[in-house]
Amino acid sequence: MSDSTIRIGLVLPDVMGTYGDGGNALILRQRLRMRGYDAEIVDITLSDPVPDSLDVYTLGGAEDSAQRLATRHLAKYPGLQRAAERGAPVLAICAAIQVLGNWYETSSGERVDGVSMLDVTTSPQEKRSIGEVITKPLIDGLTAPLSGFENHRGGTTLGSSASGFARVTHGVGNGVGDGFEGVVQGSVIGTYMHGPALARNPELADLLLMRALGVNELEPLHLPEVDKLRKERLAIR
Ligand code: GLN
Repeated sequence: MSDSTIRIGLVLPDVMGTYGDGGNALILRQRLRMRGYDAEIVDITLSDPVPDSLDVYTLGGAEDSAQRLATRHLAKYPGLQRAAERGAPVLAICAAIQVLGNWYETSSGERVDGVSMLDVTTSPQEKRSIGEVITKPLIDGLTAPLSGFENHRGGTTLGSSASGFARVTHGVGNGVGDGFEGVVQGSVIGTYMHGPALARNPELADLLLMRALGVNELEPLHLPEVDKLRKERLAIR
């Protein structure tokens, strides 16, 4: 690995890997390599302290018990918090929103403190939200509709320091009646979209990469198979 290698942190795939969200790191690496960058995925497991020096980070979804292990680890080794403070992009999927929040309540009603990188709280809702979700992004740099598959019972309420990532046009999203899907705060983007999210939403992948590289544009990639996948997913209602 050379000094110029772009390093993608896959945070706790051993516990936050249940829904295949590790695919997001693969997408980031592939989109970099196709443009001629050296890129590597750094797996950060429960046996490792969390490094603060990587270029971009992604965390996946998980069940309640795995979430708790992840929360404890991130609180003990606050490398992700330091990385986000210096502006490194972080993509947090589903349970990861809850873990990075102020607190979340498990399905059995126990309240667990999160690591407070996101000003959100999460409580279980009566009904589990499962199915396709389609949204309209609310942040600069994204224009295309977003598509994902949601599967969560937690409903997430945004605090005053957090903003909605997107507005739901189909599906449930954060699930507390405000119409938002996901959360943005500083360099952290959280979303309930599995998929993996970046396979379905290349514009989001490139936004994270532009932020990681500190550039305003990237060479476009022509990938008809990705366009086909998007068309199929966005047609699902
Ligand atoms: N256990 C959490 C919930 O149901 C997260 C699930 C997930 O990551 N898919 O809300």
